[in-house]
Amino acid sequence: MASNVVKHKAIPLEVREIVTTIEKAGFQAYLVGGCVRDFFLGRIPKDWDITSNAKPEDIQGLFIKTVYENVYGTVAIINEVTEDPTLKNVEVTPYRLESAYSDRRHPDKVTFSNDIKDDLQRRDFTINAIAINLSGEAIKDIIDLYGGIGDIKDKILKTVGKPDDRFTEDALRMMRAIRLSVELGFTIEKETLASIQKQSGLIKDISMERIRDEFTKILMSPQPKRGIELLHETGLLKHIVPELEVGIGVTQNQAHAFDVWEHLLRSLQTAADKNWGLDIRLIALFHDIAKPKTKGFSHETKVITFYGHEVVGSRETRKILERMKFSRIIIEKVVKLVRWHMFFSDTEQISLSAVRRMIVNVGKENIWDLMNVRICDRIGTGRPKEDPYRLRKYHAMIEEAIRDPISVGMLKIDGKDLMEMIHVKPGPRIGNILHALFNEVLDKPELNTTDYLQKRAIELNELGDNELQILGEAGKEKKEDVEEEKVKEIRKKHKVV
Ligand code: ATP
Ligand code: MG
Repeated sequence: MASNVVKHKAIPLEVREIVTTIEKAGFQAYLVGGCVRDFFLGRIPKDWDITSNAKPEDIQGLFIKTVYENVYGTVAIINEVTEDPTLKNVEVTPYRLESAYSDRRHPDKVTFSNDIKDDLQRRDFTINAIAINLSGEAIKDIIDLYGGIGDIKDKILKTVGKPDDRFTEDALRMMRAIRLSVELGFTIEKETLASIQKQSGLIKDISMERIRDEFTKILMSPQPKRGIELLHETGLLKHIVPELEVGIGVTQNQAHAFDVWEHLLRSLQTAADKNWGLDIRLIALFHDIAKPKTKGFSHETKVITFYGHEVVGSRETRKILERMKFSRIIIEKVVKLVRWHMFFSDTEQISLSAVRRMIVNVGKENIWDLMNVRICDRIGTGRPKEDPYRLRKYHAMIEEAIRDPISVGMLKIDGKDLMEMIHVKPGPRIGNILHALFNEVLDKPELNTTDYLQKRAIELNELGDNELQILGEAGKEKKEDVEEEKVKEIRKKHKVV
């Protein structure tokens, strides 16, 4: 065991205090796993994990608020005062040994151990199998039995022990290898990679929920394109989303430099480069999924066609996402935007009324994302960026279509109130009174109070039909002027005409 005393600032006081508390009670406590790896990489960990020779009951006795979590004996120490999400629950898990994995998913039984070496040996990759022991402000001890620190320096992902054994024990580790390699930008070591290639079929035994979680992390990494390529090259993808591989070698017309597969991966990568969310990444990945099925040729125009691919594609996308057990919310949004992804491509068709109809189709809340999908799609074809003027024009049109029109509905009084309060009979006078009031409110918004409007309505009601009509018409004209002004402002803001 190395006995370096490394000073550190990166490990939060709260975590160090937990370690100290466990040690004062006479037990060992080490930080281990992802947080140690991230610490050496200078990255902020997602969570802090501690491993100890104390039993779960011992740990529970040492802290005020704990939750005993699972069959592995993990106890979560709850911190209710911290603002930092990584400190809200710090997990302490007993050292443990793992027996055989006859189902390739779960160890047959979990045995607690007294030796940290056992615990490090059961971990998946060398970079995840480093333990550090803290003493106050300093790192007192680093246990790195498998050369994890060296592999972190060399950016190499390598199993603890023989890869064939480790992937047979738990086949999800194959996806974890790819996920970690694209998250961290590490290379998968040769023997580890060859082993995944050899045993990729074992992934079939893993539950869809676990596969989905790793798949999601691959998509959310900075290099999802590389991640999907690795899934394909290792043979894993055909057990997860075989529908994607059908696009390999499916060529397209002149506008596209790439086959369907490459285009989808580039679209996905664009979404990642823009830091967009899982929904957009899934839409980018699946938007042309049905192109292979719908490919045709028009003898008239001599071009390759994919008629209806967005309709067939949205159905196929639904099947894939349901099979992968994605949430209802994600499925509905992704399917909807795959269905309508062609909208912003057909530049001739885009008019203000078309944008309005599209907002009805995808919902106000999704229209900007539809634009984002369009950006992924376009950059994914390898063509240069959209003409900036045209992009600004689309933005202006969406804003124009999406905003609430100005109307007498904004008044703090309505036709029904008028009829009840000042006994105006149904007829054109009501509309004229409302528009006359609206005229005043457009000039002076502070007049829009029930009190004032009631009082003023009574006065207006004294006027003759003709006089009232003139005031009403003036209100309608003012409304149109203000509308026009708003539209001008939007266009000016986006520098379009
Ligand atoms: P993340 O940053 O995503 O949290 P992580 O490495 O911390 O990455 P976790 O799933 O939180 O991943 O797992 C914590 C630790 O538990 C890992 O670092 C690894 O040591 C061990 N581990 C997790 N899953 C496995 C597995 N399937 N087989 C063996 N060890 C595993
Ligand atoms: Mg973790």
